[in-house]
Amino acid sequence: MIHYRTDKEIELLRNAALLVGKTLGEVGKHIRPGIRTIELDKIAEEFIRDNGAIPAFKGYGGFPGSLCISVNDAVVHGIPGNYELRDGDIVSVDCGTILQGYVGDSAYTFTVGEVSDEIKLFLQRSKESLYKGIEQAVAGNRIGDIGFAIQSYVEQFGYGVVRELVGHGVGRKLHEDPQVPNYGKRGSGTKLSEGIVIAIEPMITFGKRDIIQERDGWTIKTKDRMPAAHFEHDVAIRDGKAEILSSFEWIEEINK
Ligand code: MG
Ligand code: MG
Repeated sequence: MIHYRTDKEIELLRNAALLVGKTLGEVGKHIRPGIRTIELDKIAEEFIRDNGAIPAFKGYGGFPGSLCISVNDAVVHGIPGNYELRDGDIVSVDCGTILQGYVGDSAYTFTVGEVSDEIKLFLQRSKESLYKGIEQAVAGNRIGDIGFAIQSYVEQFGYGVVRELVGHGVGRKLHEDPQVPNYGKRGSGTKLSEGIVIAIEPMITFGKRDIIQERDGWTIKTKDRMPAAHFEHDVAIRDGKAEILSSFEWIEEINK
């Protein structure tokens, strides 16, 4: 069942989404070679709770962390732990908050120290694919238009789109209808209309798109062990247009 959110609800969803953006900015300040991913998780959990919210991922389906932290060939759902980030790593950080009963959900792939130019380009294009998808999230379009835009953009560079995991509606629950695949056919799927709020989250692979699940029951990795990227925004369809509720501004001001 798809929920159509009122303006008031969209403001509450924006508050939760902006808190995720601020949390990711806080985490980003601490990303450097030598920091353990569990330390980043602790920073995020404290920041979220200090801001009167609850980490949405903690305990979700039994997930132990407040963040999903996925390094290099890990695509998503990495468990924070004792791994120390190294120079040249890329690290995807996915964060969720529940603020006043509404969920925010956003993700960003960071670089650690010096990363090769081809990986920087891969991250830039993966992030661009998110915005290509968002451009299609307008009233009258269909879910398939979003996936088509993402897929056609990244595949021209030889990158892959993960199929098994998709974006989703976001509201009072972390995962609501509709599902939002990052691949698809133009003009297919649910019609987008006023008040729909979705998390668009391309998971892009540098090599082939095939994935495996680690024995920890959570971490999703690329089968060919090549790097993967993950960028996610919450987007409301409002006045017919795509309105981004989350923000990367706190992340991107760090690297200025
Ligand atoms: Mg997420
Ligand atoms: Mg999500």
